[in-house]
This record gives sequence, C-alpha cells and structure tokens, in this order.
Amino acid sequence: MIELLRKGLGRLVLLSTLFFCLGTLLFAQGKKYPQGYFKFPINPGQRGYLSGTMGELRSNHFHSGIDIKTGGQEGLPVYASADGYISRIKVSAFGYGNALYIQHPNGYSTVYAHLKSFKGKIGEYVKEQQYSRKSFSVELFPSQTHFKVKKGDIIGYSGNTGGSGGPHLHFEIRDRFQQVLNPLLFGFSEIVDNISPEFYALKIVPLDINSRVKEKLDAPVFYPKKHSETAYSAPTISVWGNIGLEIKANDKLNGASNKNGVNTLIVTVDGKETYRYNNDRYAFSQTRHINVHIDHECYKQGEGRFQRMYVADGNKLPLYEAVNQGFLNITDGSEHRVEITAIDAYGNSSKLNFTLKGTPPQETRPQPFVLSREVATPTFEVFNNTLKIWGDANECLVYDGFFANNIKASYMDKGQSVFLWDLRKKIPDSVYVAGKSVAFNIKEAVKPGALHQVFDDETGLQVNFSIPSLFDTLYLDLSRAGDTFALGPYGFPMKSYIRVLMDVKEDIGPKRKLAYYQINGRSPSFAGGKWQGERLQLKTRDLGTYTVLADTTEPVIRYLGKARNVVSFKIWDELSGIQSWEAKLNGRWLLMHYDYKRKFIWSETLNPNTPLRGKLELEVRDQMGNTKTYSVVIK
Ligand SMILES: [Zn+2]
Repeated sequence: MIELLRKGLGRLVLLSTLFFCLGTLLFAQGKKYPQGYFKFPINPGQRGYLSGTMGELRSNHFHSGIDIKTGGQEGLPVYASADGYISRIKVSAFGYGNALYIQHPNGYSTVYAHLKSFKGKIGEYVKEQQYSRKSFSVELFPSQTHFKVKKGDIIGYSGNTGGSGGPHLHFEIRDRFQQVLNPLLFGFSEIVDNISPEFYALKIVPLDINSRVKEKLDAPVFYPKKHSETAYSAPTISVWGNIGLEIKANDKLNGASNKNGVNTLIVTVDGKETYRYNNDRYAFSQTRHINVHIDHECYKQGEGRFQRMYVADGNKLPLYEAVNQGFLNITDGSEHRVEITAIDAYGNSSKLNFTLKGTPPQETRPQPFVLSREVATPTFEVFNNTLKIWGDANECLVYDGFFANNIKASYMDKGQSVFLWDLRKKIPDSVYVAGKSVAFNIKEAVKPGALHQVFDDETGLQVNFSIPSLFDTLYLDLSRAGDTFALGPYGFPMKSYIRVLMDVKEDIGPKRKLAYYQINGRSPSFAGGKWQGERLQLKTRDLGTYTVLADTTEPVIRYLGKARNVVSFKIWDELSGIQSWEAKLNGRWLLMHYDYKRKFIWSETLNPNTPLRGKLELEVRDQMGNTKTYSVVIK
C-alpha cells in the first residue's frame, strides 16, 4: 500500500514537472516563433504569393503548410531555409512527389515538396539508390553528415510532382515533435496580406430532438450581408434548445485570387466567448479528424465545407477552447447577440454579427388534414440522432418490433406533417401514415470505441467494426441489389476502417479478377477486396455504394519515342488502375519516372552519358494483376 502510494506520488511529481515543461514550451512556441531564422525558399527577398495556407480544409486532411506560387512554371531554384542537414528524401508518384526534409539545429525541420528534381549530389545519390533498390519510389534517411546544407543553398527545383494540381512549392515548418506549424508566423516579409477573411454562409444546426431553428428540426443556411471589408451581418434567427453554429469562410491574400483557409475562429454570445478555434499547429496523426471538424455529410452532398463552431462528439483535436463544447443552449424567450470573428495569420479580422431569438416550439393544434392531392407514401431522413418522417396526417404509427407507437406531428413542412423519433431510445422498423407505410433500412445503432459485428439477414451482409472505426454513433443503413450494396448514411464521417463481407452471387468473371468499386454517381473507383472463403471482403473508411466488377483487361502502353537519350511512353488502365511498372534495357533494370496525372512515364539512365540503345522491355501491371509488356529496339 505504502509502496504503491510512493510510486503514485513519484509519478505525480514527474507528471507535473513534465506538464510544467510542456506547458512552458507550448506557451513559448505559441507566442514566439523565431523571426527571421528561416529564409523564404522561393525567390527570397522578392514578393511571393500563396495558393494555399495552413489549416486549409482539404479532403480528409488539413493543409499542413503553405503552397508557394511559382508563376505557373516548374524549375525555380528551391533554397534551404536555414542551416542543417537533409534528414529525409522521398520519391513517390503520389502525395508529396519528390520531397526533401531538412533538420535544423534549433529543433525545427522544414519540408519542400512536389519538386521537379533534386540538386546535384542529392539527385545523384537518389538515382544511385533507385538503381540499387530497382525502384522508382524510395524513402531515404541520410546521416547527419551526408548532406549538410547552409541557409540559402539550392537544394532542388520546384515542380508539380505527386498529388500536386499545378506547379508550386509546398513548404512546411515542423517542431521537434513533428507537429506542423503555420510558416506565416515566422515572419516572411515576402508575403503581404492585409485583406480580411470573408464570410460566405452561416448554418444553424439543431442538435437534438427538442431543438428548433426557424421552428423546425432543420439546418437552414443564411448568406451574410457584407457591409464593409470587415463587417458582415445576418438576419435575426429564431431558435430553441441545443444548437450549433457552422460557418463557411475564406481568406484571400494580396495579389492572388486564391481563396485560402481561415484557421482562427471565435464565437461570442452576449459578449462572452463560447468558442475559439486555432489551427496554427497540429499533429499529422489527427488530421483525419477534419471530418468531424467540418460538417462532412453536407460536404459530401455538395454543399461545400462548413466549419463547425462546436466540438462534435468524437472530435479529439486539441485546437479548441470552448464552453460546453461550443453548443449554445437557448431556452428563454429573449434575444442573444452573436458575433463570429475570423482572423488570418497576419491578424486581419472580419466580424459577422446576428441575433438569435429564443422561440419555443408551437403546440400543434389538432385540425383536419386537408389534401388537394393524393395521399403520399411517407418519407424519412436521419438527422443527427433523430428520425424525421414526413406524412399526410396529424398522427402516425411508428412500429418497433411488436409495438405500435402513436406519434403526433411536431410541425408542418412543405404541406406535410413532420414526425420525430429519438433514435437514441430505439431503432424502429416502419411507419404507417394515412393508410400508407414505409419500412426503414436502419439496421442498428453502432456505438464508437468497441469491436462490433453486424449480421444482416435481409442483405446477407456482414459489417465488422473495430475499436477506432467510428467518431460517433452510426445509425447504419444497409441495402443491396444483386452484387451492389449501399452503406449509409452517405457522407457519415468514419475515423478508421470497417470490413464488409458479401457472398458474390453473379457470375461476372474469374474470382481472382473481382474487386469492389465505389460508384457514387461517378466512374467506378477501385476499392480493392480480399477473398474470405466464398465471401469478398471490402475494407473501407467511406460509406457509400459499392459494386463488384471484373477487371480482365491489360493496361495500355503507347510508345512515344526517344529524344535526348530519354525514352517515354503513355500508360493507362481502365477500372483497377496501374499498380506497378518496370523497364529493362538489354536485360538490366532501367529507371522510369511516372506522372499519373499526365499518364506519362520516362527513362533516366544511371550514367547520363551512356547512350540508351538496345532492347527495351516495359512491363506495366494493374491492381488486379493484368500485365502488359511492350518491347522495342532503341537505335
Ligand atoms: Zn501544399
């Protein structure tokens, strides 16, 4: 007992010391980043422009640095930001493309991505490693003494490699814990910004069954009125109960039309701060939490990215200071002044002001339901934890198992009654309104943080959840037609993978050529699949519609020719897509660079002076193992 106590105390002392150190460190970092320590990596000393800022909302991640414009060109010299050594080099056809990492003696590191090429000795070293590993993709960790750099040394040339959508340099500054920091806080005089952020849209979301916005359980969008460069307003909005605010805002910088991200947002209600968000620093491991920072379902439905100004359940980002998670609880009949402030990295700010008026839901008065049309089949939708049902009567019967629950309409919407059902209590089977009924396809309420399996008799599907799969409770809906199934609700954010098993019924091709493809109103996108006995398993982090297709077609190779000792080809593949490629010249491995955006592949000899001559064989393989070989004699 005493032993335990002493251990506990020791730990406590150790912990508080650690917290004190961490606290001081974080405070020091938050307030004072070294100014002038880093040199701007592109055209230092000249006016620079950005096409992307820190914390910008991207698909499944926050943007982790700045995107520096290169005037639509490639090949601009990229300079080492400060003294240090090259600690990591990565070459990939995807993501950062050709990327360099420099470790600096003050503990910070810098990252330079989408490079066209590496400078001199670095480039030679990379090529030697590619040849010795017989691989285009490499990740190298040179020793501290291998590539020492001085501030201002040219380390490479800007490009458009990897996932880049146009020529630019992606530049990051990281701290010693590999957290990404906002480079604009390090005092680069090259970037000028005195333009304030802009507000585009405001959304008010009722967060539980008793909440209302404009007397409905709906999340209407309001378009703020701009009064000046920094002042916006929205009309008075009637609300009741637990509600959340969401905003669509952007920031422009001088001299560029790009709409960049806003990474500081503050909400005050009646002059008191209720919510503050700042994304000047974050860890890569948390980046997927962007899907609960934004209203992901709206985003997937094409409404753009609304940032939530409340901390949704399951959101573990340490970027908020919020009272009651930022939820506003308005249950009085009075008016409340709300001010939203958006601030950019240079301190330019804009304010959006509006009033929320507490308005209790109206009692529904029983009255004859008059219809000038035929009675419609009821429709339904899951809204957060509530099932909303539209029907043509004042009352409905909701069935759960053997029970029939008589529900009164909560309010009218578009000439129909809306009935509300709290899904947290029970998942119902069907509803009966005015002689018409409809069955729900919600199978189960799956809770986050637990291993769980759903076996659905109706569709024959099995869905396996792991501990990290979910951010929040999922009201899983499942449907199936043939070998196509839908996992819903569409756009529901997933933290990690789930596995779905289906017995493939249709005879569409040889088993080893079958895989899942996601088909959400666009061309099928390869999602893979692994056979578990007679069932094909899908591993996914996206709810949506999937089908099984057979890819039995080889990739296509088109020879373009030889110019300046370089041979090039176009390669592409229908359905599953290209997985790998390999070239041999007179039987010896030949390096081929690959740019998937241009479907372009080209050679580089180990020694640039060795003439490229003889028998060249290029083999390209797709994700389903279909292989195409192309042979040509190069003269
Ligand atoms: Zn970038």
